[in-house]
Parts: sequence; C-alpha cells; structure tokens
Amino acid sequence: MEKTRLLYEGKAKKVYATENPETVIVSYKDDATAFNGLKKGSISGKGVINNRMSNLLMAMLEKNGVPTHLVEELSERDTLVKKVQIVPLEVIVRNISAGSFAKRYGVEEGIVFDEPTFEFSYKNDALGDPLINETHALALKLATKEEIARIRDLALKTNQLLKDYFSERGVILVDFKLEFGRLSDGSIVLADEISPDTCRFWDAKTREKLDKDRFRRDLGNVEDAYIEMMRRVSGKENEQ
Ligand code: UDP
Repeated sequence: MEKTRLLYEGKAKKVYATENPETVIVSYKDDATAFNGLKKGSISGKGVINNRMSNLLMAMLEKNGVPTHLVEELSERDTLVKKVQIVPLEVIVRNISAGSFAKRYGVEEGIVFDEPTFEFSYKNDALGDPLINETHALALKLATKEEIARIRDLALKTNQLLKDYFSERGVILVDFKLEFGRLSDGSIVLADEISPDTCRFWDAKTREKLDKDRFRRDLGNVEDAYIEMMRRVSGKENEQ
C-alpha cells in the first residue's frame, strides 16, 4: 500500500491517504511536545520505537478481544491502519497517582489505587484539553451514551491486559491515555498509539521512570528510557 497524499500532520505523527478509502498510513516522527505544545524537542529514534511498540501492543489487545485500527506494519516508521473518525475524547486510565492527577488533587505521586480511575479530557488544543465529564460530552454531542459505555468497557479491559503484560516484563503501568475512533460502520475501535509518549511506565524494581516524563521533566537519558521499554516489550530481557 502506498501513500497518496498527506492528510494531516500532528505533533508526533503524519497521516497519509492511500488508494483505499478505508485505510490510511500513519508515519511516526521523532518530534516530541509537552505541556500542550509549549515544550518542543526531538527524541532520536522515538518514532521507530513507538511505531513498533504500539503495533505489538495493539496486536496483543486485538488477540484478547479489544478491536483496534491496526492493519499492518509497513516499515520502521509507517503502519497501515483502518481509517476512523476520532472521538474527540482523551480517555485516561490511572492505576497510581501521577502527573495532572497528583497536581489537581494536591497529593504525592505513587499512591496505588484500589480500583483504576477513569476520566475524559476534551481533545481540543485551543482549550488545552480540559477535563470533561460524561454529561458534558453528551451535551456537546462528542459521543453517544452507547459509545461512551463501550469506550469505558474497552479502556478498562485494555488496562487489565496492559497491566498484566507489563508486569510480566518488570514494568509498572502507572497511567495511560487512549483514543478511540469510529469505523465507517459506526463501530468503535482503539486508535492512535500506545507508547512511552502516552503511558507512564515505572521500572518495577527501581521505580525509575521509563517514559515521556523524562522529557517533560528534563530528567535526562530520554532515548535510553525508550530503548529500555522497547527491550522489555520485545521480551529480550530474558535473553543472555
Ligand atoms: N497523556 C497523553 N497525552 C496528553 C495528556 C496525557 O498521552 O495530551 C498521557 C500521559 O502520558 C499519562 C496519562 O495520559 O500517561 C495521564 O496524563 P496526565 O493527565 O497526568 O497529564 P500530564 O501530567 O501528562 O499532563
């Protein structure tokens, strides 16, 4: 499948049309942003890692009953995916307090929750992706009640599957952001990406951060953290 024309360029990815109206090609860049685009930079090799990792995780989820947009990895940075209409909600699931949760409620990072939390942000850069509740999302017609229920089920199922998957690889899944899309038949699938850009990962032994927080907070060794996460996901940690 070939790229025909550029449809959209986002912060970390480009999206191209293909000859098939039902598919698009996503191309992962090394560009990184944080704090609603205020902090800009580049993480060398990130696009290659995020492309591979996201595809491995989506394939695992698909196998376990979570429908995704994934069709086929085309190259180091390019993946063929089903064309979707993105539901403009960032779906955030948390297992441990961190980031904006810790800040908003004035608590430390690292509180382990008895049950995962679930929240939406309204995907709107001009407004800075504000927190939004279900009734507001319905009022704004961002999704239907049925779609929201489906998204919630799929997000919580994804959390359980990812938590177990990473735990087997010595990684704590702290929190993550998902995006869902509608296929042409209206059904909901997991879209966008799952990577160290969109998840918080802590090493289970040392609690070292292995994700984009290293970039956000200028902690150094950003590239190494992405490489280490890729190594864990590839299962290479057991090879001598
Ligand atoms: N996240 C993301 N994109 C965003 C906002 C958050 O991928 O625009 C991810 C982030 O990496 C983390 C989770 O969602 O894994 C929860 O982020 P939080 O709400 O704590 O916001 P942040 O501190 O990242 O601004």
